[in-house]
Amino acid sequence: DAELADLGTDESSEDAEYDNDPQPVVAVVGRPNVGKSTLVNRIIGRREAVVEDVPGVTRDRVTYDATWRGRRFTVVDTGGWDPDATGMALKIAEQAQIAAELADVILFVTDAIVGVTDADEIVGHVLRGSGKPVILAANKVDNQQMELEASGLWSLGLGEPQPVSALHGRSSGDLLDVILDKLPETPKQRFGAERGPRRVALVGKPNVGKSSLLNQLAGQERVLVDPMAGTTRDPVDELIELGGKPWRFVDTAGIRRRDRELQGADFYASVRTRAALERSEIAVVLIDASGVLTEQDLRIISLVIESGRCMVVAFNKWDLLDEDRRYYLEKEIDRQLVRVPWALRANISAKTGWHVDRLVPALETALKSWSSRVPTARLNAFLTDLVAATPPPVRSGKQPKILFATQASTEPPKFVLFTSGFLEETYRRFIERRIREEFGFAGSPIEVTMKIRE
Ligand code: GDP
Ligand code: GDP
Repeated sequence: DAELADLGTDESSEDAEYDNDPQPVVAVVGRPNVGKSTLVNRIIGRREAVVEDVPGVTRDRVTYDATWRGRRFTVVDTGGWDPDATGMALKIAEQAQIAAELADVILFVTDAIVGVTDADEIVGHVLRGSGKPVILAANKVDNQQMELEASGLWSLGLGEPQPVSALHGRSSGDLLDVILDKLPETPKQRFGAERGPRRVALVGKPNVGKSSLLNQLAGQERVLVDPMAGTTRDPVDELIELGGKPWRFVDTAGIRRRDRELQGADFYASVRTRAALERSEIAVVLIDASGVLTEQDLRIISLVIESGRCMVVAFNKWDLLDEDRRYYLEKEIDRQLVRVPWALRANISAKTGWHVDRLVPALETALKSWSSRVPTARLNAFLTDLVAATPPPVRSGKQPKILFATQASTEPPKFVLFTSGFLEETYRRFIERRIREEFGFAGSPIEVTMKIRE
């Protein structure tokens, strides 16, 4: 009654791998030799994960893309990270903990022939406290008679054991159905129309041309609504249609009112800027190109960096510049904006309307970067190559390793590297740079952090 289910990845989906839909992550945990890699092979439908009879052999790849019934997900094989088998219980507990942190669903693989071991108990304990859905696979149930053995695994307190034979494929389709059942819905609507107009904060020191730009944008296009008019609430937003879409410019009352007493009052200006950033997704930082870049301009840019928002830097009053000044300014800007080489730039004239239409594509690019997610498998494949070519510097005689990486969040994109030792700041910055080169992220800040596992 072997059920050789036709499992696996349809190859055509590979090209479309890099999109904005976060792919759910299924982490496979379990002690050595229970059949994790055999099962991973089953799930991905390829003989790609290396099966070794030696327990704990390090495999160079740990993540795979899989598809089942049209649903795509990432499989993380948490086995094979550690070449030496000393302190296995601890390693297993840690492995389970990492899995619990990064996965949407945990597939806990046990060996039905051997039954529950101490290591299984430890994993069970960690996973019960994880708050993540756990599927308990009873592997090596190669035939009907073996099914009885699997029932002993109820004692792990993780619900019904799912009998499977990774080797022969028996019941592997059923197991995949159970996995699919527990996968979270992809939060598609976050990227769809329902999220409402994108929220823009127009920031910059007094007199750079914020209200002129607002007038220019609202005047050349249609102001859709004057929301909350007549209410006493302070921050008033304006919905302005640009490039066929409504955009919400936040806290425009402050810009339009042109509070004289606030002008020059740095503290309030920065409070207002912070508040606007808090309510926005993207900042347009306006800078007066006819003057010099001041401390105040740079402070505002710092506030945007702190806020984690994506950003477009618009150099206004471009109409006032002569050729020489333009050339010189470009150089100066490069020098001044070293902290934010990723920020998109636009040279505009709010007064004449020159190139103001270039703001919208810049906003769209930045927001797209801000919301995008690199699939775990693709990220890890990239890092594996990168680390092979340029290994992290040795620290106190040890070569730190990157065990696994994942993009933990979007808006802004944050990456977490699980490492076996401390990675120097310079090396992390190097990785950040290379991630940008490889995956884009124009206009968006990204963050790369590490979690050290011993
Ligand atoms: P891992 O260390 O957990 O990744 O385990 P492996 O996938 O390397 O498998 C360990 C051993 O168990 C190998 O010799 C496999 O052939 C064997 N094995 C894996 N799955 C099954 C199964 O369903 N039935 C039987 N009888 N053996 C299996
Ligand atoms: P805000 O304080 O940032 O809102 O700046 P305003 O929009 O009030 O502009 C301050 C001054 O700069 C006004 O006199 C504007 O006419 C002028 N201004 C704004 N944008 C431009 C521009 O693109 N070119 C020129 N030449 N003047 C501008």
